[in-house]
Amino acid sequence: MILVLKSGLSKEKTEELCSFLEKKYGIQTNPIYGSETTIVGLVGDTSVVETEAVMMLEEVERVMKVQEPYKRANRKFHPDDTIVTVGNAKIGGEKIVVCAGPCSVESEDQVLGIAESVAESGALLFRGGAFKPRTSPYAFQGLKAEGLMYLKRARAKTGLPVVSEITNASQLELFIEFVDIVQVGARNMQNFELLKELGRIRKPVLLKRGFANSIDELLMSAEYIMSGGNNQIILCERGIRTFETATRNTLDISAVPVLKAKTHLPVVVDPSHAGGAAWLVEPLSKAAIAVGADGLIIEVHNDPKHALSDGQQSLTPEDFASLMKRLAPVAESIGRSI
Ligand code: PEP
Ligand code: MN
Repeated sequence: MILVLKSGLSKEKTEELCSFLEKKYGIQTNPIYGSETTIVGLVGDTSVVETEAVMMLEEVERVMKVQEPYKRANRKFHPDDTIVTVGNAKIGGEKIVVCAGPCSVESEDQVLGIAESVAESGALLFRGGAFKPRTSPYAFQGLKAEGLMYLKRARAKTGLPVVSEITNASQLELFIEFVDIVQVGARNMQNFELLKELGRIRKPVLLKRGFANSIDELLMSAEYIMSGGNNQIILCERGIRTFETATRNTLDISAVPVLKAKTHLPVVVDPSHAGGAAWLVEPLSKAAIAVGADGLIIEVHNDPKHALSDGQQSLTPEDFASLMKRLAPVAESIGRSI
């Protein structure tokens, strides 16, 4: 339920109203102060709220019911776009933020070299997996804590904030120390215990859509994190599983405008895992920008042929540099920059 308050109501009066409603109905309130109008989102068991009585309150202009099960992530709760700021990156702002780096951290030299090169080409975030959720238990599982340490050195050298995937809540302390944005991978999108833990931290979370999950399920996963008080969430469309086998996954391009309509959270696209082939990264990136994505996550490897994971979809640093140049006019065509 959303209350639109009378225009010009003071912050003090709004706070008084919120505590009155919280005490009376045992719910939580979420005031959002706009330049003219303030709205208050009611969260919890709102079935006990007497709509008629609330409508009569002198501070209240209008009462709106929210049908969707996600509240804090809902654009109705928060009409303005959320911008997640990390280093020089404002994800959800005018500039399209590109995060680039290898699928897996393989060595210190590898990450330092790639990080320097992608920073020069215009990436604002650096990615690298240290805990790898591989389909086969015999495949490379990542350098773990050592890998996170190399990422921290890459950040010190280039100034680029780092993004890495967490696979278990027991790694949280390490991630708080070494990582700027905590990635939740497709395989863990509905690991609700992990999501609850991430709600308790105050670091941005990059939440990837599971390959067999609906858009509303993605939003409910964001809601899990937000219900713990962590509102800094970046959603990521990375392709879903369909009957089509020509590409690794099917990039659900419509998910971008649909998500942008349903939620105020920033939405980014991972063309590397969607297409599963280096040659598809460029067309999928262009499409993502054209439909309104706030950012891209692109796998870049110094030697894709010998990469320990996802070499087939990784660009070389040189290819990444020229891709960034070709994406610029697409961003400009929709009034954005990259
Ligand atoms: C990754 O980003 O390297 C990764 C494993 O992605 P996803 O969870 O989307 O498969
Ligand atoms: Mn990968």
